[in-house]
Amino acid sequence: MIPPFNDNLTRFVMERAAVRGAVVSLDAAYREILGCHAYPSGLRRLIGETLAAVCLLANSLKFQGSLILQLHGAGTLRLLVVECDASLSLRATAQWEGPITDDALLADLAGDMRASRLVLTLDPKDGGPLYQGVVALEGTSIAALLEHYLAKSEQIESRLWLRAADGRACGLLLQRMPGATDVDAAMWGRAAAAVDAAPAAFGAADAHALLGFLFPGDDVRAFRARSPRFGCSCSRQRVAGALRLLGSAEVESILAERGRIGVDCEFCNRSYEFDPAEARALFDAPPAAVH
Ligand SMILES: [Zn+2]
Repeated sequence: MIPPFNDNLTRFVMERAAVRGAVVSLDAAYREILGCHAYPSGLRRLIGETLAAVCLLANSLKFQGSLILQLHGAGTLRLLVVECDASLSLRATAQWEGPITDDALLADLAGDMRASRLVLTLDPKDGGPLYQGVVALEGTSIAALLEHYLAKSEQIESRLWLRAADGRACGLLLQRMPGATDVDAAMWGRAAAAVDAAPAAFGAADAHALLGFLFPGDDVRAFRARSPRFGCSCSRQRVAGALRLLGSAEVESILAERGRIGVDCEFCNRSYEFDPAEARALFDAPPAAVH
């Protein structure tokens, strides 16, 4: 029994062809992330599509840290950050200036594509080195950009479909495995065409119904579902670490101006307050290790 679509990620393989994939639906997780800030609806859609994409990618990479997508835009959208860790805990934030229309495309939001950039970071979270890849903005959608990235960096031919509307963000990833035969190639073409032809399939009640609708008659094996959720890794200890990095002089200058230190997490909106004694105490003792 496959659970209903409710913050659900389900991997699957085509039993008779070297084609694999995954389907994700973000429901409460997406709505909670949107609830942190008053995003315009055109931006809400882009955030939803990017959340679904990053969740699918984080799940498909053989990697135990966090995957972070950063889009630095030169247009109305200045910054979009979406992060997913190995447990499929997701968070996102965006900065923009000016009005955003409901039907804004990525190119409208990011402005001059040559002046914008998309960076994917793999953070192992264990003190090991970061891996960063810069994705060329050669595409009109997040899906197209990431398909290009997967083909180049992972050397896996991939198709990605993303939808975000009505409080639900969905995605489907299809990947053609290396060493594919003619039979596999035919299946790959047929599977991709089936998804292209049925955008309404994303309204399916659950992953099983979606896969059955898209690939009737094919031997599709679905794996145990995982549960993506909204989660923020911010903490008072991390904010304290950031204030120590800022330095005593800067902290004193903020205290002189405002009387206290207040830091809001840009992802989850949680507020961290430090009164003058607490702020100065950060510089009294040797800094504790920050994890
Ligand atoms: Zn937070």
